[in-house]
Amino acid sequence: MANMEARLASLHKDAKEVEKETLKYFQRLKKRTPKTLDLTMRDLHDAEFEKTDCLTCANCCKTSSPIFTEKDIQRISKYFRIKEFKFIEQFLERDSDDFYVLQQVPCHFLDENDNTCMIYDVRPKACSEYPHTNRKKFIQITDLTVKNAEICPATFNIIENLKKAIPLGGKATPESKFK
Ligand code: SF4
Ligand code: SF4
Repeated sequence: MANMEARLASLHKDAKEVEKETLKYFQRLKKRTPKTLDLTMRDLHDAEFEKTDCLTCANCCKTSSPIFTEKDIQRISKYFRIKEFKFIEQFLERDSDDFYVLQQVPCHFLDENDNTCMIYDVRPKACSEYPHTNRKKFIQITDLTVKNAEICPATFNIIENLKKAIPLGGKATPESKFK
């Protein structure tokens, strides 16, 4: 836990430090995307989450909101046995893209005592798929992934490991710093 706290304390700064280089890397990757990219991403994602325990972190739930789709809202309202409009009124608001998001963070449904999700079985799809690093057509969400690296230590590591797995030239990240 202490390790994770230290990691989260420096994550934003570390991500900003390599942001330009990462954006350039993804630009190059878009120009010559290997057919096997999604497979590589899936392996890197799986390897990372074998060693990263989200219950020691929960930084996504503490600092950002998932999008709530209509289906999410139906499912969660049903779980609470309240009307959908009541659920929306109590917890959600529209963001600048007109998506439903949380009114506030940390998420109301996060138990901050142990970082568990109180609605885990019915949580939004965006939560169950976060940080999306193993999704199909990963190349379409590189900008989002660069942003996610600022709050998700696993995403940061996955990107750095991708740069090593598929080197495309350019300035390398100092190895000693990000292990
Ligand atoms: S997905 Fe990322 S930010 Fe969220 S709890 Fe896991 S490691 Fe932390
Ligand atoms: S619904 Fe659960 S998984 Fe999603 S942000 Fe809230 S606490 Fe985290």
